[in-house]
Amino acid sequence: SKFTDLPLSQKTIKGLRESKYFKLTDIQRESIPLALQGKDILGAAQTGSGKTLAFLIPILECLYCQQWTRIDGLGALVITPTRELAYQIFETLRKIGRYHDFSAGLIIGGKDLKFERKRMDQCNVVICTPGRLLQHMDENPLFDCVTMKILVLDEADRCLDMGFKQTMNAIIANLPPKRQTLLFSATQTKSVQDLARLSLKDPSYVSV
Ligand code: AMP
Repeated sequence: SKFTDLPLSQKTIKGLRESKYFKLTDIQRESIPLALQGKDILGAAQTGSGKTLAFLIPILECLYCQQWTRIDGLGALVITPTRELAYQIFETLRKIGRYHDFSAGLIIGGKDLKFERKRMDQCNVVICTPGRLLQHMDENPLFDCVTMKILVLDEADRCLDMGFKQTMNAIIANLPPKRQTLLFSATQTKSVQDLARLSLKDPSYVSV
């Protein structure tokens, strides 16, 4: 199936087309329709499966449908294990989202907290690594994420393997319960199941 078969905004379709994305991968075909309906998702997918677009497209559509603008605050938070992955996600989002009006930022350390904090306050989509995000939440108990609609836990198994279990749990405890959560993991270990139980509500299982 093709992206044009999905109920996507013209802005997204155009961004995908110009980025040379035409046909859906398996994980995209299985998960995007469910995500667009607002379902929580537990996705079993390897790197290389196309999982990045499987969560970025629903994020863009959410921005569009709800008319978020720069002043409307944080709408989506993507947590990924490494800086490199965060950069890749950010670049892909910029490419496919070029016709949407929103602001995206990286919270991955390497800049001082104050600078990042200011960026974060201006961003509708934030892509972050777990340790750095929790640092912000700790420094700033009023961390404003009440407007957050979508949480993405990318490569959850790798986050847990890297020792971020407590960090992830603390982050989730700080986020508004009324949200949509998309969790992607290459493997389905017990610790991934635990994280899924903690973070997802009545999830749809998608495996490719
Ligand atoms: P990911 O698993 O999200 O890291 O994606 C792996 C690679 O597949 C990346 O280089 C993407 O640009 C590419 N890719 C993802 N979705 C598609 C698609 N629908 N059509 C062609 N290439 C894709």
